[in-house]
Order: sequence, then structure tokens, then C-alpha cells
Amino acid sequence: MHIYNDLTRQKEELVPQQKNHITIYVCGPTVYDLFHLGNARPFVVYDTLRRYLLYKNVEVTYVQNFTDIDDKMINRAQALNISVKQLADEMIKEYYHDADNLNVMRADYHPRATETIPEILEMISTLKEKGYTYILNDGVYFDTSKFADYGKLSKRDLEDQEAGASERVELLEDKRNLSDFVLWKFKKEGEPAWESPWGEGRPGWHIECSAMSKKYLGDTIDIHAGGMDLIFPHHENEIAQSEAANGKPFVNYWMHNGFINVDNEKMAKSGGNFFLVRELAGEYGYDVLRFFILQAHYRMPLNFEEEPLMAATHGWQRILRSVENIEFLIANANPEFDQTQSGELSDYIADTVQEFERAMDDDLNTPDAFAAIFNLVRHVNIVSTDYALSADSLQKARDCIVELCSVLGLDAEKEAEAEIPADILEQVKLRDQAKAERDFATADRIRDELNALGYKIEDTPQGPKVSREVEH
Ligand SMILES: [Zn+2]
Repeated sequence: MHIYNDLTRQKEELVPQQKNHITIYVCGPTVYDLFHLGNARPFVVYDTLRRYLLYKNVEVTYVQNFTDIDDKMINRAQALNISVKQLADEMIKEYYHDADNLNVMRADYHPRATETIPEILEMISTLKEKGYTYILNDGVYFDTSKFADYGKLSKRDLEDQEAGASERVELLEDKRNLSDFVLWKFKKEGEPAWESPWGEGRPGWHIECSAMSKKYLGDTIDIHAGGMDLIFPHHENEIAQSEAANGKPFVNYWMHNGFINVDNEKMAKSGGNFFLVRELAGEYGYDVLRFFILQAHYRMPLNFEEEPLMAATHGWQRILRSVENIEFLIANANPEFDQTQSGELSDYIADTVQEFERAMDDDLNTPDAFAAIFNLVRHVNIVSTDYALSADSLQKARDCIVELCSVLGLDAEKEAEAEIPADILEQVKLRDQAKAERDFATADRIRDELNALGYKIEDTPQGPKVSREVEH
């Protein structure tokens, strides 16, 4: 597999440190509120990377943290008149609700910053001993001029940063360099705080990821991933802390996903132009949101618009219908059905798997992976209309579609089964009986009732076939 490495700015073959075992660290959410679709993109994208590696029988150790202490947490908790811990507990529960429904596998470790304080303090102590820190009125700082490689990920040098100070860099008179950042913030009145050798306080944002990845994955990790906005300063600062403290390379492959945009602006809480996953799921369903995210390449910007969301709805429905249709054909196939065409279908399935893997091996090209699945869906639809295919080959086609979808985290099987409720199927049976008894008035009445409920009945040579109308 090749992935685009932001450190070297090129596609590289993914070679893990340990044979057949990949370690992945993904920057997780700050748990002060429900997450929006822009936040969801990295969760879904890197979950898909993990699923694909598992599909290829690679062992994966996956860590995604929860930032459960920072200014946003403190402000929100104060506004709600609850403790920061209560807010974090509540929002982590809500995170799991949405992430589980998006079919994002739980990480092997979901560490919380507030539960990693000893490791954070240890790393700051090491940095202090090695001469990378200095103390100001409000906290312990990292001196970026002491770390020769500072800027190697974001490709800026210190002078660039002096010239173009970003808003995320606090302008403090006393800082030695503009890019210097806080490792430990001293306690302010009314804020949660932990003991430290430098006085009570709380960790800075960047140090938590360096400490957590070291705790669970060691000094050097294979893949570190997150949104593009984290390249600078967050990931640059993680590199500085970890490499300065550990004296070893921190990350072999850096992966960053593009933003989800609304009217060409990044979807963000601060911009007020955000759509919560919880709300969108009520309208489109979680599967369609996952489909929508993956039908674009992860490094490209993705526009949040009605049209591609509708396209995702229809695309996903097409796959579900196809699985449903094949299941119907299997149930009604008989042993004399065509073996020649069935053999050709088997070849087509093998090609599909190859095409799918080629796409995924090429920097996780999920749009091309979907195209491979759709080619198979289209092909089965055509050949199954023209020829009576054997149950065996149809089963292979069905299983292939279901398996490749599951690699993308989409459960075509569950949906297809859940699609038609038992009472509706019962009505379809009653209609069929009425038709057999030439009671067309009853048959038509049942059909109309089912139509009104959103179900369509087609009479096929294999018997009546019921499907759900697409709602969007
Ligand atoms: Zn991080």
C-alpha cells in the first residue's frame, strides 16, 4: 500500500516498523460539545484505513485521544454550571453514540488527557532536564529555537513564523520566539488543576498527544493522522516535544485529511457554519453520511451541499437494492440455471476485488473503490436480467459487494435485511394469494396501501418483489 506522507510530501510505500503490525495515532475530539460533520471526517477516514489494513490481515494498534481539559472545556462547563469532568463524561458518551452509529470502530485505546497527567509531567521534566524549557508568569514553555528541526512538517522556518504570526500563536511579550508554546499552564482561579514540580496547573494541548502516543505506542509510531488544520502548530509541536524528549523519530508517516467546506469556508464551530452529525443523521441516516464522506478522496476538500448528499443517498440505496435484488434471485434460482454466464460473473468478481484493492492501495482512494463496487452492481443487474444465473455465482457476487462495503465501514447486509419489515412482507403474501384467487380488487387495494407506506411491488417471473422507495 502507498500513502501520501506529509512529512516528505510524496506517496510512499507503507512499511511498518514491525512486520505486519501498524501503529496509528489519530488526534481525537475536544469533548465540549456534539461533533459536526467536519469533525467526523477524520474519524471515518482513518477508521476506513484501519479497516482496510485489517482486511489485508495486518495487525493494527489504534489510539485516538479525548481532549478533556482546555479553555473550551472550562468555559462550557462554567456556562452549564457543571464540572469539567461531568461535561467530559457526558460528551464522551455522546461521541460514542454518533461514532458507533457511523460505524467507526472503537480505538484500542481512547486515553483522556486528565488520565495521562503523570506521563505528561514526566515528559515535561525530561524536556526541562535537556534544556528545552523556560518559565514565564503563566506557565512552562517550550523553546522552539532549541529544536533544530522545528518546522520540518509544515515546512516553515522560525523566520517565516516571526513574519506571519498566526492567530493560534499567542502573542506574549516575554516569549523567546513567537512559535514557543506552553507545556504546562499555571492554575487560574476557579480552574481545575493538578500538582506538578512547577506548581499547580494543567497541561497544554500539544503535550497530551506526545505523552499519550508514547504511553501506548512507544517513541516512534508508524502513522499519525488528523485534519489538515493540525499540521501547524499542533503536529509541528508534537514532533518538537517528542523528538526532543525521546531522541528518536516520532512519526514515520503523517496523514492529513482535507476540510469539509460550506460555501468554500471550512466547516467549524467557531465559524458558526456547522452541521451536527446528530442532526444530519436524523435527516439522511448515519450510513449516508459515511458514504458521503468516503465518496471524496480524503485529501481533497469536500463541499457540504444538498446535491452530493442526495447523490450519496441514491448511491447507497442503489447498493442496498442490488444486494436485496441478488438475494431475491438466489432464493428463486434453480439448479439448471446457466453455468457459462455464472463462470463469467465469477471472473468479473475477481476483477472487482483487484480493482478495489488497487484503489485502496493507492493512498486510500475510496472514490475509485466505490467505482469498483458500482461496476459490479451494474454488471450483476445487467447479466441477471439477460441470463438465469446460478445461485452459487449470485451468492459470490452478493458476498463480494457486502464484504467490500464492510471494508468501507458500510453494512449492506444489515440494511438489506432490515429494509422490509415482516408485516409488509405479510401483506405482499396476502396480495399474491388474492391475485392467485383472481381477487384483483383486494390485490390492488393492498398494493395501493403498500405504495402509500412507501413500498413498491414489482411482479417478476420469479414472483413479486418488494422494495422501499427512496425518500430523498
Ligand atoms: Zn493531537
